[in-house]
Amino acid sequence: MRIIAPLDELDELGPPPPLPLIRFCGAPGCRRRARPGGRHCPGCHTAAVRRWRAEHRRELAVRRRDAAAARDDDARARDSGRAKLAMALRRGTLERGRCRECGAREVVGLIADPARWREAVWVCREHRQAELERRREDVAQRAADAKQAAWYDERTRVLAAIELLPLAERARLHALAARGPAGTQLSPGAPLSVMNLVRVYKLLDA
Ligand SMILES: [Zn+2]
Ligand SMILES: [Zn+2]
Repeated sequence: MRIIAPLDELDELGPPPPLPLIRFCGAPGCRRRARPGGRHCPGCHTAAVRRWRAEHRRELAVRRRDAAAARDDDARARDSGRAKLAMALRRGTLERGRCRECGAREVVGLIADPARWREAVWVCREHRQAELERRREDVAQRAADAKQAAWYDERTRVLAAIELLPLAERARLHALAARGPAGTQLSPGAPLSVMNLVRVYKLLDA
């Protein structure tokens, strides 16, 4: 936790920005400003990333190779699912359904999970695009849900950490977090105030 100057009473008069903290680059001897949310100035950040990449060259190469292999596995699984479906249709062990939107007979099978290719969804050409669109939306929704869950986890973790701070330190964080846009005062527990609290804590903790 970095020690910062006590809040000036005069701050109450003007409309202070919500987070009036100027942070400087953490690199030794550098006095430029840190990137928003970062530890270093843009120049030192780029240099640090380059250094880190050079130091971890081997691990990065392994990770890239694994990712490529995983992608190939996915592609293989999808091909295999499609091949099994085609074979089942030829052998007559599975019948083509009707388009689930309009009942048309001219259909293609869409496989969501290659391991469960028997549960292919049947759609006509016209409704294929709509079905693909719907799936993309499902994926986007799941990603948004995961992001929301991650935020709640972080909020819980940070609020618990703040509870362990000395009373004065806590009061200072709450005072900083209560600063709303354009000099407004947020009530404690208001969503924006909680978001500020988490941000302020992470800034000072960085
Ligand atoms: Zn710097
Ligand atoms: Zn259709």
